[in-house]
Amino acid sequence: MSKFCVIGSGISGATIANLLSKKHSVILFDKARGPGGRASFKRIKGKTGFDHGTQYISPKTKEFKRFTNNLIKKKVLKVWGGKHIFLNSKKKEDKKHIKIIGRSGNNDISKYLLKKINCNYQCELKKIYFKNKLWHLLFNDGKLRSFQGIILTCPFPQLKKLSKKFIKNSFLDKSIKMDANITTMIAIKKNNNSNSSYFFEDPVLGWAGNENSKKRFKSKHDLWTLQSTFLWANKKINQNKKNKKENSDIMIDKFFQLSNIKKTKINYFLNHGWKYSSNSKPFRIKSYWDSKKKLGVCADWFVGPRLESGWISANDLFKKISK
Ligand SMILES: Cc1cc2nc3c(=O)[nH]c(=O)nc-3n(C[C@H](O)[C@H](O)[C@H](O)COP(=O)(O)OP(=O)(O)OC[C@H]3O[C@@H](n4cnc5c(N)ncnc54)[C@H](O)[C@@H]3O)c2cc1C
Repeated sequence: MSKFCVIGSGISGATIANLLSKKHSVILFDKARGPGGRASFKRIKGKTGFDHGTQYISPKTKEFKRFTNNLIKKKVLKVWGGKHIFLNSKKKEDKKHIKIIGRSGNNDISKYLLKKINCNYQCELKKIYFKNKLWHLLFNDGKLRSFQGIILTCPFPQLKKLSKKFIKNSFLDKSIKMDANITTMIAIKKNNNSNSSYFFEDPVLGWAGNENSKKRFKSKHDLWTLQSTFLWANKKINQNKKNKKENSDIMIDKFFQLSNIKKTKINYFLNHGWKYSSNSKPFRIKSYWDSKKKLGVCADWFVGPRLESGWISANDLFKKISK
């Protein structure tokens, strides 16, 4: 029997699974098809695809800088070069802002950390039970699996639903609002625009990233990932499944208008709605650990809205478990 079961293969789950695996047996489950969570890579063909969640990492703490620098040396990550166009007068541009990306996709960190971990995808955790000092986990395949310890890394609303019977801590009573995001991925006819990204000042469109500029693949098309503002997505997300085309059309029109790129035929489009994109209001604790029940929780939303927040939370949990 595995000592620890980790739910989630995003940065939080991958980091804690990697740290725990140095001393314990670990098994990981994720409901998605592959690793990365909100930093996943939408593969279209071969190496061609879109970073449709996390766009880039810009490390803030010295510990995370050390971690990412090490992964740059190991050729897991690289700096995203080229021209990044800042068009937002409401925010101050940080000229030293560094943009780090995965060599083949932004889920490369999760892939690297999970190399030696037993990972199981398309397995959704439905319910948890605690009996005779063991955790019994019911998955979507109807199987009940038992473990000595569990670590949950789901977005806050999902975590609350799964674990409210077992966690008696005030952090679970808080009502946090995770912002939504609508992402539109497009392939258009090649043109002379070679900018790597745009940061807009617009009520609908927040950002556009040029996938070709990451130099991971060669394509006869230009691939762009367009991300909405939180404000617009919060209003649209509940109906996005029904209104995919309409919402993406609005974003695409904005993209051509704001970037000054000549409007061309859209050869390919895909819409992905993120209901729980990020939480900008951190908690007072960075992770949760119940040493009696061996139940742990780590996730970005404890700490902040970035991928680095998940990494910090997982390291904090590991320290608590190791005490
Ligand atoms: C559109 C968007 C853009 C972003 N841009 C940036 C950016 O540019 N830079 C940056 O630093 N951060 C960015 N972020 C935030 C960043 O992606 C997150 O902070 C980070 O990925 C969170 O990692 P996590 O491991 O805590 O959670 P997640 O990545 O969400 O991982 C949780 C995992 O748990 C799995 N899961 C959930 N419930 C279950 C269940 N019941 N059973 C099984 N598996 C389950 C999910 O499938 C998922 O893989 C962005 C996020 C979004 C959505």
